[in-house]
Amino acid sequence: MKALGIMGGTFDPIHYGHLVTAEAARYAFGLERVIFVPAAHPPHKEGRRISLTNDRYLMTVLATMTNPAFEVSQVEIERGGPSYTIETMRHFRSRHPEADLHFITGGDAILEICTWEQSPDLFKMCQFIAATRPGYPLGALEGLRETLGDAAFRRIHRLEVPALAISSSEIRRRVAAGQPVKYLLPESVENYITK
Ligand code: ATP
Ligand code: MG
Repeated sequence: MKALGIMGGTFDPIHYGHLVTAEAARYAFGLERVIFVPAAHPPHKEGRRISLTNDRYLMTVLATMTNPAFEVSQVEIERGGPSYTIETMRHFRSRHPEADLHFITGGDAILEICTWEQSPDLFKMCQFIAATRPGYPLGALEGLRETLGDAAFRRIHRLEVPALAISSSEIRRRVAAGQPVKYLLPESVENYITK
Protein backbone atom coordinates (compact mmCIF):
# COMPACT_ATOMS: atom_id res chain seq x y z
CA MET A 1 0.00 0.00 0.00
CA LYS A 2 1.54 3.29 -0.99
CA ALA A 3 1.71 6.08 1.57
CA LEU A 4 1.00 9.63 0.45
CA GLY A 5 1.49 12.89 2.32
CA ILE A 6 -0.84 15.85 1.91
CA MET A 7 0.34 19.22 3.17
CA GLY A 8 -2.35 21.88 3.21
CA GLY A 9 -1.66 25.54 3.85
CA THR A 10 -2.09 29.11 2.75
CA PHE A 11 1.57 29.31 1.71
CA ASP A 12 1.56 33.11 1.75
CA PRO A 13 4.47 32.67 1.19
CA ILE A 14 5.82 29.10 1.44
CA HIS A 15 9.01 28.94 3.60
CA TYR A 16 11.61 26.54 4.98
CA GLY A 17 9.37 25.64 7.96
CA HIS A 18 6.89 24.04 5.50
CA LEU A 19 9.59 22.40 3.39
CA VAL A 20 11.60 20.94 6.28
CA THR A 21 8.41 19.55 7.83
CA ALA A 22 7.28 17.92 4.57
CA GLU A 23 10.68 16.36 3.95
CA ALA A 24 10.99 15.09 7.53
CA ALA A 25 7.51 13.52 7.25
CA ARG A 26 8.34 11.94 3.88
CA TYR A 27 11.43 10.29 5.33
CA ALA A 28 10.00 9.26 8.71
CA PHE A 29 6.77 7.74 7.34
CA GLY A 30 8.13 6.38 4.04
CA LEU A 31 5.82 8.61 1.98
CA GLU A 32 6.10 8.06 -1.74
CA ARG A 33 5.16 11.68 -2.42
CA VAL A 34 4.13 14.80 -0.57
CA ILE A 35 1.42 16.82 -2.29
CA PHE A 36 1.23 20.50 -1.32
CA VAL A 37 -2.30 21.89 -1.50
CA PRO A 38 -2.55 25.70 -1.45
CA ALA A 39 -5.93 26.76 -0.03
CA ALA A 40 -8.26 28.95 -2.06
CA HIS A 41 -10.04 30.61 0.89
CA PRO A 42 -8.91 29.27 4.26
CA PRO A 43 -12.09 29.47 6.41
CA HIS A 44 -10.03 30.20 9.56
CA LYS A 45 -8.32 33.18 7.92
CA GLU A 46 -11.57 34.92 6.95
CA GLY A 47 -11.29 38.69 7.04
CA ARG A 48 -7.54 38.72 6.58
CA ARG A 49 -5.87 39.97 3.42
CA ILE A 50 -4.32 37.08 1.52
CA SER A 51 -2.13 37.25 -1.60
CA LEU A 52 -3.59 36.27 -4.95
CA THR A 53 -4.17 32.55 -5.34
CA ASN A 54 -2.10 32.46 -8.50
CA ASP A 55 0.92 34.01 -6.74
CA ARG A 56 0.68 31.58 -3.80
CA TYR A 57 0.38 28.66 -6.21
CA LEU A 58 3.40 29.76 -8.29
CA MET A 59 5.57 30.33 -5.20
CA THR A 60 4.66 26.82 -4.01
CA VAL A 61 5.65 25.36 -7.39
CA LEU A 62 8.98 27.24 -7.37
CA ALA A 63 9.79 26.14 -3.82
CA THR A 64 9.04 22.44 -4.41
CA MET A 65 10.74 22.15 -7.81
CA THR A 66 14.06 20.82 -6.50
CA ASN A 67 12.48 17.85 -4.67
CA PRO A 68 11.37 15.01 -6.97
CA ALA A 69 9.03 13.66 -4.25
CA PHE A 70 7.15 16.96 -3.90
CA GLU A 71 4.25 18.09 -6.07
CA VAL A 72 1.56 20.77 -5.96
CA SER A 73 -2.16 20.20 -6.40
CA GLN A 74 -4.66 22.82 -7.57
CA VAL A 75 -7.65 20.92 -6.20
CA GLU A 76 -8.67 23.56 -3.64
CA ILE A 77 -7.92 26.42 -6.02
CA GLU A 78 -10.05 24.90 -8.77
CA ARG A 79 -12.87 24.07 -6.37
CA GLY A 80 -12.91 27.67 -5.09
CA GLY A 81 -15.01 28.75 -2.10
CA PRO A 82 -13.99 27.88 1.47
CA SER A 83 -11.21 25.25 1.51
CA TYR A 84 -12.39 22.39 3.72
CA THR A 85 -9.80 19.67 4.31
CA ILE A 86 -12.50 16.98 4.44
CA GLU A 87 -13.44 17.67 0.80
CA THR A 88 -9.80 17.68 -0.21
CA MET A 89 -9.17 14.33 1.48
CA ARG A 90 -12.28 12.87 -0.23
CA HIS A 91 -10.76 13.98 -3.53
CA PHE A 92 -7.43 12.23 -2.85
CA ARG A 93 -9.23 9.18 -1.45
CA SER A 94 -11.21 8.76 -4.67
CA ARG A 95 -8.11 9.27 -6.82
CA HIS A 96 -5.98 6.89 -4.71
CA PRO A 97 -8.44 4.35 -3.21
CA GLU A 98 -5.61 2.07 -2.03
CA ALA A 99 -3.31 4.71 -0.57
CA ASP A 100 -2.57 5.29 3.10
CA LEU A 101 -3.19 9.04 3.31
CA HIS A 102 -1.26 11.20 5.78
CA PHE A 103 -2.24 14.78 6.43
CA ILE A 104 0.81 16.78 7.55
CA THR A 105 0.32 19.74 9.90
CA GLY A 106 2.25 21.88 12.35
CA GLY A 107 1.50 21.78 16.08
CA ASP A 108 -0.77 24.84 15.80
CA ALA A 109 -2.99 23.43 13.07
CA ILE A 110 -3.52 20.06 14.74
CA LEU A 111 -4.79 21.78 17.89
CA GLU A 112 -7.44 23.56 15.85
CA ILE A 113 -8.55 20.28 14.37
CA CYS A 114 -11.69 19.94 16.49
CA THR A 115 -13.00 23.21 15.10
CA TRP A 116 -12.65 21.92 11.54
CA GLU A 117 -15.65 21.03 9.42
CA GLN A 118 -16.62 17.39 10.01
CA SER A 119 -13.42 16.47 11.85
CA PRO A 120 -14.79 13.08 13.09
CA ASP A 121 -15.22 11.96 9.46
CA LEU A 122 -11.79 13.29 8.62
CA PHE A 123 -10.23 11.09 11.29
CA LYS A 124 -11.69 7.99 9.68
CA MET A 125 -10.11 8.87 6.33
CA CYS A 126 -6.48 9.53 7.07
CA GLN A 127 -3.59 9.58 9.51
CA PHE A 128 -2.24 12.84 10.87
CA ILE A 129 1.38 13.83 11.21
CA ALA A 130 1.76 16.62 13.77
CA ALA A 131 5.12 18.36 13.60
CA THR A 132 6.75 20.29 16.40
CA ARG A 133 6.62 23.99 15.74
CA PRO A 134 8.26 26.52 18.06
CA GLY A 135 5.62 28.10 20.30
CA TYR A 136 3.14 25.21 19.92
CA PRO A 137 4.28 22.41 22.25
CA LEU A 138 2.96 19.02 21.21
CA GLY A 139 2.31 18.18 24.88
CA ALA A 140 -0.96 20.08 24.46
CA LEU A 141 -2.01 17.25 22.11
CA GLU A 142 -2.91 15.08 25.13
CA GLY A 143 -5.95 17.32 25.59
CA LEU A 144 -7.34 16.01 22.29
CA ARG A 145 -7.52 12.39 23.47
CA GLU A 146 -10.73 13.00 25.39
CA THR A 147 -12.36 15.13 22.70
CA LEU A 148 -11.53 12.77 19.85
CA GLY A 149 -11.70 9.38 21.52
CA ASP A 150 -8.95 6.76 21.59
CA ALA A 151 -9.28 5.35 18.08
CA ALA A 152 -9.05 8.73 16.38
CA PHE A 153 -6.35 9.92 18.76
CA ARG A 154 -4.14 6.97 17.76
CA ARG A 155 -4.18 8.26 14.20
CA ILE A 156 -2.20 11.32 15.24
CA HIS A 157 1.55 10.75 14.97
CA ARG A 158 4.04 13.15 16.44
CA LEU A 159 7.07 14.20 14.46
CA GLU A 160 10.07 16.02 15.82
CA VAL A 161 11.43 18.40 13.20
CA PRO A 162 14.43 20.68 13.67
CA ALA A 163 12.87 23.76 15.27
CA LEU A 164 12.41 26.57 12.76
CA ALA A 165 10.64 29.58 14.21
CA ILE A 166 9.68 30.76 10.73
CA SER A 167 6.15 31.83 9.80
CA SER A 168 4.60 33.39 6.71
CA SER A 169 3.25 36.24 8.90
CA GLU A 170 6.77 37.11 10.04
CA ILE A 171 8.06 36.99 6.45
CA ARG A 172 5.23 39.30 5.28
CA ARG A 173 5.99 41.66 8.15
CA ARG A 174 9.69 41.72 7.22
CA VAL A 175 9.04 42.29 3.52
CA ALA A 176 6.69 45.18 4.37
CA ALA A 177 9.33 46.71 6.67
CA GLY A 178 12.13 46.29 4.11
CA GLN A 179 13.98 43.79 6.33
CA PRO A 180 15.88 40.79 4.91
CA VAL A 181 14.09 37.45 4.39
CA LYS A 182 17.10 35.70 2.88
CA TYR A 183 17.63 32.13 4.24
CA LEU A 184 14.08 31.98 5.61
CA LEU A 185 12.67 30.74 2.31
CA PRO A 186 14.02 29.50 -1.05
CA GLU A 187 15.79 32.11 -3.14
CA SER A 188 13.40 31.48 -6.05
CA VAL A 189 10.47 32.49 -3.83
CA GLU A 190 12.31 35.54 -2.52
CA ASN A 191 13.03 36.62 -6.12
CA TYR A 192 9.38 36.09 -7.03
CA ILE A 193 8.28 38.31 -4.13
CA THR A 194 10.78 41.02 -5.10
CA LYS A 195 9.66 40.93 -8.70
P1 ATP B 1 0.71 32.36 8.73
O1 ATP B 1 1.74 32.96 9.65
O2 ATP B 1 0.24 33.26 7.65
O3 ATP B 1 -0.39 31.64 9.46
P2 ATP B 1 2.21 29.88 8.47
O4 ATP B 1 3.69 30.09 8.50
O5 ATP B 1 1.54 29.40 9.71
O6 ATP B 1 1.51 31.22 7.92
P3 ATP B 1 0.46 28.24 6.91
O7 ATP B 1 0.32 28.31 5.44
O8 ATP B 1 -0.59 28.83 7.78
O9 ATP B 1 1.89 28.91 7.27
O10 ATP B 1 0.77 26.75 7.40
C1 ATP B 1 0.52 25.58 6.68
C2 ATP B 1 0.91 24.37 7.53
O11 ATP B 1 2.32 24.40 7.80
C3 ATP B 1 0.24 24.37 8.91
O12 ATP B 1 -0.06 23.00 9.22
C4 ATP B 1 1.32 24.89 9.84
O13 ATP B 1 1.17 24.42 11.15
C5 ATP B 1 2.58 24.33 9.19
N1 ATP B 1 3.77 25.14 9.49
C6 ATP B 1 3.97 26.43 9.16
N2 ATP B 1 5.18 26.87 9.59
C7 ATP B 1 5.78 25.82 10.22
C8 ATP B 1 7.03 25.64 10.89
N3 ATP B 1 7.91 26.64 11.00
N4 ATP B 1 7.31 24.41 11.41
C9 ATP B 1 6.40 23.40 11.32
N5 ATP B 1 5.19 23.51 10.68
C10 ATP B 1 4.87 24.70 10.15
MG1 MG C 1 -0.52 29.52 10.03
